[in-house]
Amino acid sequence: MDAPDRFARQRALAGFSDDGQARLGAATVLVVGVGALGCPAADLLVRAGVGRLRLVDHDAVGLDNLHRQTLYAEADVGRPKVDAAAERLRAAAGAGVTVEALHRTFQEGDLDGVDAVLDCTDDSGTRDWLHALCVARGVPLAWGAVEGWEGQWATVVPGGPCLRCLWPAPGDAPSCADVGVLGAVSATVGAQQALAAVRALLGQESGGTLWLHDGRAGTFDAVRFPRRPECAVCADATVPGSGAR
Ligand SMILES: [Zn+2]
Repeated sequence: MDAPDRFARQRALAGFSDDGQARLGAATVLVVGVGALGCPAADLLVRAGVGRLRLVDHDAVGLDNLHRQTLYAEADVGRPKVDAAAERLRAAAGAGVTVEALHRTFQEGDLDGVDAVLDCTDDSGTRDWLHALCVARGVPLAWGAVEGWEGQWATVVPGGPCLRCLWPAPGDAPSCADVGVLGAVSATVGAQQALAAVRALLGQESGGTLWLHDGRAGTFDAVRFPRRPECAVCADATVPGSGAR
């Protein structure tokens, strides 16, 4: 009798198969920020069998994080988030999954060797910088944000429209206001970021959609956005492997 297969239910998915599982297993995914979005996203990615997860976060766990940051317990309060998260994720992951924990702010070199990126920060400066670097390097980026009862997410893939195509001026992008947040809303966004990364790793993500979730009304809306030829970020980006601008 064959040994139980941890990923049997994933391999059974249409469009997944052994090849899809192998792609995830060979992939490195960077998660910037292990808070309300990064916790559920990272958990889902290691359980899906992503081979290497790189976590970057400079923060420590606070008691008021626990209602939404699903990897932490009261005993973790005061610990670096990446250390507590890596411990939980290694316990949840199967053999062959590597979790790297970087207790500091994001640095450009963190993108080296990365196949997909999740922006799970709540800092507009990091968001803009990370976004521009991902576009320039041709690395798929799954961005997400929560504000109050509302969540938003969008994916940027090489050759597709970027977030500056959507919001031409940096100040147009949503900021993280201190208006509270519900864990079920942030977990929804984080799960969608993880799903977008999986699609990107399988070559099944085309980007160009901003999703708007109103957790209070229980609604989801999709807004399609095109690439702008004059975009300040992606107009000159090279698509890896295409040999063309
Ligand atoms: Zn653009």
